[in-house]
Amino acid sequence: MNNIIEQVYCNPDIYKISVPLTGNALKNLNSYVILDHGESLVIDTGFRTEECYNTLMEGLRTLGLSPAHTSLFLSHLHSDHIGLAQYFNYPDTTIYMGKEEYSYYSNMISGGRNPRGFNGERFLAEGFPSAELEEAHRSNPARIYLPSETFPVRELSDQDKIKVGEVELTAILLPGHTPGLMCLYLEKEKIMFTADHVLFDITPNITSWPGMENPLARYIKSLEKVMTYDVKTVFPAHRNLSGKTMEQRIAEIIAHHTTRLMEVIDALKEKPGANAYEVAGKLTWSLRGRSWEDAPKKQKWFAVGETLAHLEYLEAQGRIRKDKENGYYLL
Ligand SMILES: [Zn+2]
Repeated sequence: MNNIIEQVYCNPDIYKISVPLTGNALKNLNSYVILDHGESLVIDTGFRTEECYNTLMEGLRTLGLSPAHTSLFLSHLHSDHIGLAQYFNYPDTTIYMGKEEYSYYSNMISGGRNPRGFNGERFLAEGFPSAELEEAHRSNPARIYLPSETFPVRELSDQDKIKVGEVELTAILLPGHTPGLMCLYLEKEKIMFTADHVLFDITPNITSWPGMENPLARYIKSLEKVMTYDVKTVFPAHRNLSGKTMEQRIAEIIAHHTTRLMEVIDALKEKPGANAYEVAGKLTWSLRGRSWEDAPKKQKWFAVGETLAHLEYLEAQGRIRKDKENGYYLL
């Protein structure tokens, strides 16, 4: 084995290919490969960049595989997960993706390549300056590194099974991080491939999605759902486990959002009628010493999206209200 690929489980054989996400805070995408009785399944791909492509293909070659003969599971629509999907589109292979997620993705790419398309109007209405929005979208790999071609998928519903040799995996629908994210569960071994639903040394981004109400509430519900599974081994899509169990990490993630909600309430106490952009400027972000004003626009875009998810949550709980000018007030 070389330094990009590592066997992480025996019987069934599971390998992890570390696909580098250069220039991105996530650092790597953990692409997993399950091999059993001559069949194989790859879980997630990395960005559509030459570096990701070369690494993933080298990893597959090390295992004696090629994308023409291996199936692919896409956990969710983010470009670091589906970027290379089109290169797995062969007659003998199957690309699996959640039904909700695939239809959301198809709508998103048909209308959303310009800055004011996908969710842009919402951000402008919530106070995001238009010049900053355009810069944020220009520099956002989420868009640049998506597949350049469409690809057919076998759509999965909650609890559908995928067979890899004699290994049976269950797809679990867990909306929140995206509208239709799915995790894979290998019941026999109590293994959960958590994708970006549960990450360990970073917190999954929860943001506002057109057509998806109250993403934070859905996410918390999905954290509760995944906790009902008996899990001994966790394979997340980024970074490492930091010595924690899934249950411990979920408790920390819920605590993080509770703190965030309190911060939003404090911001509105300080400035009643603030819009989402102004509220975001008052919250704690890791900006590496930079002020909110000087923060990279891409980071502001993520911050405002996350703020919106928290504002929507508080609004649904009846703790705040929004006026016609998109100013928020405590109730
Ligand atoms: Zn993601």
